[in-house]
Amino acid sequence: MEKLKLENIHKTYRNGQIVTALRGISLGFRAAEFVAIVGPSGCGKTTLLNVIGGLDTYDDGDLVIANTSTKFFKDADWDAYRNRSIGFVFQSYNLISHQTVLQNVEIAMTLSGVSAKERKQRALQALSDVGLADQAAKKPNQLSGGQMQRVAVARALVNNPDIILADEPTGALDSRTSVQLMELLSQIAKTRLVIMVTHNLELATTYSSRIVRLLDGEVTSDSNPYEETETTTPTLSRFKKTAMSLVTATTLSAKNLLTKRGRTIITAFAGSIGIIGVALVLALSSGLSSYINTMQTEMLTGFPITISATDQSFDMGGRNPFQGQGPGKTYTEFPDSTTIYNYDANDNRQTHTNLLTPAYLDYIAALPSALPGVVNTISYARGVTMNVLADADGTIVQFQTSRGPASDRGEVLGFGSTNYWQAMPDNAEFILSLYDLIGGGHLPEAKNEIAI
Ligand code: ADP
Repeated sequence: MEKLKLENIHKTYRNGQIVTALRGISLGFRAAEFVAIVGPSGCGKTTLLNVIGGLDTYDDGDLVIANTSTKFFKDADWDAYRNRSIGFVFQSYNLISHQTVLQNVEIAMTLSGVSAKERKQRALQALSDVGLADQAAKKPNQLSGGQMQRVAVARALVNNPDIILADEPTGALDSRTSVQLMELLSQIAKTRLVIMVTHNLELATTYSSRIVRLLDGEVTSDSNPYEETETTTPTLSRFKKTAMSLVTATTLSAKNLLTKRGRTIITAFAGSIGIIGVALVLALSSGLSSYINTMQTEMLTGFPITISATDQSFDMGGRNPFQGQGPGKTYTEFPDSTTIYNYDANDNRQTHTNLLTPAYLDYIAALPSALPGVVNTISYARGVTMNVLADADGTIVQFQTSRGPASDRGEVLGFGSTNYWQAMPDNAEFILSLYDLIGGGHLPEAKNEIAI
């Protein structure tokens, strides 16, 4: 039973122009052999390798892995297949430059759920298998091309895959190191299936055990085709799901961020500008609105809304020096008589009387609870002045409890008089938010207590 079988695989690229890369490829592979796929550039070698490795999809036909059709594979199945069964080697090595050789090999195991200790041990083993045990601590750019490609082979081997796929692995190597790599791959092919795409027919003939020629997406020759009657032990039945532990994922991303410190800082800063901006606007608007609230409270405390029984508004402009007896008559149209009368200011005086009914007073009294935060307190002033007597050094004197007309004291005040004595608003919290109690006193609690 073969390890891997392609049945009439077709692949057409349809991005922009339509290119048919594979036109019905049928190939069976043994569990352990070194297959070289050769052919001119553009004949579909890389496409074929990518389809085998699950890096690309096929349009038609079937890829059978250990007797399992992949027609209905889900993404997770492909992930498991790529991670557990396939090792990739590319022409350009694909090593991560800021990680050490050892870390580059270890990274292949991060998705396999292997402990850190075992990862290191297996990576070192794979490196010594390819003859690079002493280079583990170096960075890839301190190695030669041949050494880098051997690191890539170690990385491909470390998960112990059944199949190694190599795309032009010697493409960037000189002939001496190419030979070393070929020897390494043919060694590996003794126990695994190695499929290599190459331009180099000479190396392919010398080292591989089978040469498949492609032309225009079709197999034109196969030096050692797999026969259905052959018996080899089937393997590759294990599809373990891939998984990266949280710790590994965090460490990997942290390391990646640290190697690009400048970029990380700039990105973080750029990202935070938006957040800082929003926070500033919010802070400013909430600060402003609380400032306005305080302002309003203080303003209205100094100048509360007053509702009195009568409001008077005078027509100030109409003050008439002649104050005569007018006819007190309302006109609906312009008078056509020729008589001229004196102007009477009283005619223009308007008095508005508020109806302070018990129902209205109840309505007012309920306002603080109906509109909490809008109406802080309500106080009532009545046209009664207090008669306060005091003992001043043996003589009883009467306190002046109201201000007389402003002219009496030479002050410039408004109209009328103001009581010195006022009932306190019935809201201790509100009073204390505006005034401080000093001298250890307390707000009046009994009828014979006052606040000064
Ligand atoms: P080879 O590896 O033998 O040089 P490829 O398999 O890379 O050939 O390519 C086969 C054909 O498919 C070529 O004509 C190529 O232009 C085309 N091709 C390969 N990859 C793509 C792609 N991603 N999109 C469109 N066409 C592609």
